[in-house]
Amino acid sequence: MLTIEEKGSIVYTGSPKRRCFIIFLIVLGLLAFAAIGIVAGYFIGRNSAAKSCDDDDSDTKTQNGKFTQKQLEEINKNAVEMVSTEELRNNLKFFTKQPHFPGSNESLDLAKHIQEKWTEYGINVTMKKYIIMLSRPKKPGVVALYNGSDEIYRSAPQEKFLVPSENNSLVVPPFNAYAPAGSVRGKLVYANYGRNSDFDELKRLGVNVTNKIVIMRYGKVGRATKSKRARKLGAIGAIYYMDPEEYAKQGVDKVYPEYNWMPSTGVQRGNIKSTPIRGDPQTPGYPSVEGMYRLPKEEAMKLLPQIPVHPISYKDAEPLLRTLVRNVVLSNSSFQGGLDFSYGIQMAENDDREVLLNVTNELFEADVYNVMGVIKGSTHPDELVLLGNHRDAWVFGAADASSGTAAMMEVSRVLGEQLKKGWRPKRTIVLLSWGAEEPKYMGSVEWLEEYSRLLSARAVAYLNVDMAVDGNYSFRAKSAPLLDWVLAKGAMKVPSPLGNETAFDEWIRKIPSTMGFNYLPRLQQPRAGSDYVNFIQRLGIPIVDIRYTYNSKISSNPLYHTVHDNFWWMSTLIDPEFKYHQVTTRIWTQITMTLADSVILPFNVTHYGDNLKVFNAGIKKKFADDFKNYTMEKDLAYLDKAVENFQTTAKAFDAFVKGADKEDYAVVGRINTRLLSVERAFVNLQPILQANPLQRHVVLVHSPSISYNWYGGVVDAIFRARKGLVSKEEVKKQVSIVAYGINSAAQVLKLSPIE
Ligand SMILES: [Zn+2]
Repeated sequence: MLTIEEKGSIVYTGSPKRRCFIIFLIVLGLLAFAAIGIVAGYFIGRNSAAKSCDDDDSDTKTQNGKFTQKQLEEINKNAVEMVSTEELRNNLKFFTKQPHFPGSNESLDLAKHIQEKWTEYGINVTMKKYIIMLSRPKKPGVVALYNGSDEIYRSAPQEKFLVPSENNSLVVPPFNAYAPAGSVRGKLVYANYGRNSDFDELKRLGVNVTNKIVIMRYGKVGRATKSKRARKLGAIGAIYYMDPEEYAKQGVDKVYPEYNWMPSTGVQRGNIKSTPIRGDPQTPGYPSVEGMYRLPKEEAMKLLPQIPVHPISYKDAEPLLRTLVRNVVLSNSSFQGGLDFSYGIQMAENDDREVLLNVTNELFEADVYNVMGVIKGSTHPDELVLLGNHRDAWVFGAADASSGTAAMMEVSRVLGEQLKKGWRPKRTIVLLSWGAEEPKYMGSVEWLEEYSRLLSARAVAYLNVDMAVDGNYSFRAKSAPLLDWVLAKGAMKVPSPLGNETAFDEWIRKIPSTMGFNYLPRLQQPRAGSDYVNFIQRLGIPIVDIRYTYNSKISSNPLYHTVHDNFWWMSTLIDPEFKYHQVTTRIWTQITMTLADSVILPFNVTHYGDNLKVFNAGIKKKFADDFKNYTMEKDLAYLDKAVENFQTTAKAFDAFVKGADKEDYAVVGRINTRLLSVERAFVNLQPILQANPLQRHVVLVHSPSISYNWYGGVVDAIFRARKGLVSKEEVKKQVSIVAYGINSAAQVLKLSPIE
């Protein structure tokens, strides 16, 4: 029963916890009369009372069964409303006090704090330790310009500290994690963003990068891909910088700390690990726990980047870029960036100057801790709703990802408040604080590898928050189509930061659908970027990734991975009232409780079918010429038929659910088993991408070669067929694999046991 007490707070009377407490008081009272052992008796009494109540599943189950769905919605609403801006501010301040590098003592201290808090909230906590090979600079990296033996220019060893709180001895100098140590000297070539088209342009112009050092600006392509491509073409080193065109859009005089743009001295850190394997390089595919076989270091190093790479500021990039000339006509004018001179491509032939690149990164093994908090479910304890956020940061990490940690702590607090009042989720909620995401998802991958079989069978969804806030433009989400509506409905129940509309209204207004669904905002495809990747790609667990974001026209907040991503910046320039934090936290709380407490899993399979139809039309349009060249009418017809099959099955399934008796456990069980299997069925058993053998979701995977969000296996095959690396047969095969995945998903959804 729900009763409203004063101040509008709800108490769920008759709760097992509350009764435990009453029993405990009685026990205590009786003990007080005992002649001897009063103190000892207190502890025995307390322990046994607590234990018997906690362990009594059947009791909890009956109690929880007493809540109607309507009451559960009321509890959910109450929890969402409880999310406090003050708590969020305090959390963020606490978690950003010190830099907390992956695997560091500071990060371990934060893990212990989380453990303490969760325990206090009534959540069961386990510290999970993994031994992971990490990368750090021994000394600051150097980029210098030489004329013979004369050094003309040298890059700054560290970012300039622009507000007092940045001045901290634990700030790690700018570096690109996993770039090997090494010192190289040579001529410089500018390859723009390092896209395939940029290198093609250089080739067209006869510019050779062999034995050269290639300078590239951040953006358009992942940081790992740029240097990998340069190396493939024979480069001996790579330098990254942030061009003002992307990072100081209002001009180089309108920058941090007055504006949210990159100052001339700022540098973005980041890993450049780009290997077919994910996670710890010494235990590919397996958890890096004690006892597990570890590759010898030299073997593991073969899987890591092979040429030195170092990031510098645009102030330090300028003198280097000024050495370059352009005696050719570019077909692609995008090579020009935002610095105030005409950009060149390579050094003049008679130019004697050279660039020195010196990287001193070292690999080291560290104990990395993930904190796992478990709220055991009452009626469906084996179905797991997972919430994840990474705790580590390159420096202070106010946005990335302490804003998410602040949100996670607040979600756990409000859930704890509900637990105290007698609520218990139907499904088990698992809270996960990852110890090393910045070095490429290490913490979450090792945990996923340890639990992969269990997760395959039991995980309902993985709800990720990396940065809860990296800007104040709008709420945004990435999601698997199965969860689009859970998110949308969640956002409909939360007010926007200004409170004049719902978060959903603002979201759909600012980020409308690009799929033709005018009733939904744009839900981005879950491409690479944070810990969710492996859950969806390897295990087929539906995911969401939510945040309050920067203006959609700019790829990320400009100060990302710099020393300036700190509490001062967040609380002064981005979210002074912590209202944007509140929105993300509320939506996270809302969808968590909905997923944990719904009788039928709130997965929308009909909407998945609608998406598949759009994906099919999209790929046929984008690659029409290729498909025509390869005479693929039959193959595409087979794919269309698979989508039709899925759509028909999904509609029949939804109709069945609508009429089903939701009180009948057997029926509900059959429905949920099917819903749990759908996303799994899209994961192919064999690799589909050459470059990423573990990215195996046939629909939601993207190709690293051509920018298209879905059907990556097909897109990759087209790319390679265009280059003459494979025949059209490979494209046909990949199309049929997508159809197979879609048919498999329809098959598990069908109502008959097997047909
Ligand atoms: Zn992050």
